Amino acid sequence: MSLTKHRGIGMTSERTRARMVERLREQGIRDTSVLAAIGLVPRHIFVDEALSIRAYEDTALPIGFGQTISNPYIVARMSEVLRNGQDLQRVLEIGTGCGYQAAVLAKLAREVYSIERIATLIGRARRHIRALRIGNIKLKHGDGNLGLEEVAPFDGIILAAATPQPPHALLHQLAPGGRMVLPRGSGSEQRLVVIVRTEQGFEESVLEMVHFVPLLPGVS
Ligand code: SAH
Repeated sequence: MSLTKHRGIGMTSERTRARMVERLREQGIRDTSVLAAIGLVPRHIFVDEALSIRAYEDTALPIGFGQTISNPYIVARMSEVLRNGQDLQRVLEIGTGCGYQAAVLAKLAREVYSIERIATLIGRARRHIRALRIGNIKLKHGDGNLGLEEVAPFDGIILAAATPQPPHALLHQLAPGGRMVLPRGSGSEQRLVVIVRTEQGFEESVLEMVHFVPLLPGVS
């Protein structure tokens, strides 16, 4: 890519990103840290060059292997629910995909760990994260159902893939007071839920309807 073209995209993306943040505000995202984080991460870096012109539309886009980059609203919403107005220390994401949500989380948490089951996708995510020189994300190829016992506990866990039952291992890798945000359900019956680990056990709140790809077992 020539320097001129690169600059062109850079400037356009800054303006269109500011518009995207404005739209998210209108859609009800209130957390200013989340809005600032979304404003800082160039989403077009995470999608195929042919699709980069659509990178700031409020839509999910294909990233290969039947998977998608989540739409900006859901990335913002999940980050807002995870944060709950507080700075995050150690966060785990299940379902890295292209790495966009991880890059946004990296602005909101001290350390981000993200697991993806498809090897080719984790390779691409690694390239995107490196291109943006983000230093506080660790990516892992593996089955997210198992979490990351060696790094736990996490004060936040985000699932980018839907499941009827939150994986047992993940629940137990939450720190006391920690929050897990996930699409619960399957097919067209999915709701965003937040599960908080309390002294007594786990408390779940149900939020809006969502649509995610399924959480699958094993690696590919
Ligand atoms: N976080 C991404 C969204 C990725 S889509 C974004 O920022 O846009 C969900 C991803 O979850 C897919 O890439 C899929 O391969 C992955 N996935 C599904 N089941 C998984 C599992 N058990 N462990 C890890 N990743 C999984």
